[in-house]
Amino acid sequence: MMDIFPSEKRSWIMRQVREKNTSPELKVRSLVHRLGFRFRLHRNDLPGKPDLVFPSRKKIIFVHGCFWHGHNCARGHRAPKTNSEYWTEKIQRNTERDIKHQSDLKAMGWDSLVIWECEINNLKIVTEKIYGFLSGNKSAEQNSLPDSNSAAPHCRR
Ligand SMILES: [Zn+2]
Repeated sequence: MMDIFPSEKRSWIMRQVREKNTSPELKVRSLVHRLGFRFRLHRNDLPGKPDLVFPSRKKIIFVHGCFWHGHNCARGHRAPKTNSEYWTEKIQRNTERDIKHQSDLKAMGWDSLVIWECEINNLKIVTEKIYGFLSGNKSAEQNSLPDSNSAAPHCRR
């Protein structure tokens, strides 16, 4: 994967994030903030109450705990010792709900990205993933359209 930051800037970002001993969501918020993107939190009116919402880009970031959301990784596969049937069902329901929320959002014109708790440990990858997602060429596509007579209903303000 291509490096998107000069190494000093990236190591600065990494240092900033690593110093904070906080929840995965706060780490992602802090990272996104440092990348210079503005966002809103937990919009109740959107499916799944997304963690970070970027209204002008129509983009959403969910930060998911590997255990609760059934990630396909070591942490996500750690089976609880007691009531394992209960947890398995609960996690499966969460996973199904996540998929539903993302497809509902897609239908409403929102692109979503999931950042997994375990991915945050690899800051280089997660930074590039977030940056690539947020700076994606959606607006470039819109800019290439003739700008006056656009009748797209979702462009109304
Ligand atoms: Zn994971």
